[in-house]
Amino acid sequence: MSKKLGKLSEISEEKIRNFHEYTRLQGLKTTKQRGTILDVFFRMKGHISVEELYDIVKTVNPRIGYATVYRTLHLLVDSGQVEERRFGDGMSRYEGHSEVERHGHMICEECGQILEFFNEELETLQIKLADELEFDIHYHRHELFGSCMDKSSCAKRRKKNPKLK
Ligand SMILES: [Zn+2]
Ligand SMILES: [Zn+2]
Repeated sequence: MSKKLGKLSEISEEKIRNFHEYTRLQGLKTTKQRGTILDVFFRMKGHISVEELYDIVKTVNPRIGYATVYRTLHLLVDSGQVEERRFGDGMSRYEGHSEVERHGHMICEECGQILEFFNEELETLQIKLADELEFDIHYHRHELFGSCMDKSSCAKRRKKNPKLK
């Protein structure tokens, strides 16, 4: 297993079990390749693109193809264990677990860094605002676009991000 990868959290282990239950109910066979992709995905943190996942998966098992990684991610989304997000650069990112529950995102338009935040007051305030408008919130999305204040770190990240020109 690659050194970059962390341990599986309890939440991740539960999500993997839920996923296997989902594929079983769908009549899909469990495959070793899919198991590897799941294991890598849930050890990676943050907001992961298909390309990023594939880059690590192929170091673990070079026989796993891009299409299998892509299909497995979509199956994970269908199973409800993973969320697909798009942050304006047109690239889909997948989020399996986070340290921060119900969080919002601040996205740097220059280097692509994605920060997470959660604020109880903000949550309470929007419920209050919705109440005033007699509106029932089903879900919400906080996505704030801007740029990093630390320009030198931002420039370094920008250089490392091949998606940005
Ligand atoms: Zn997030
Ligand atoms: Zn930045």
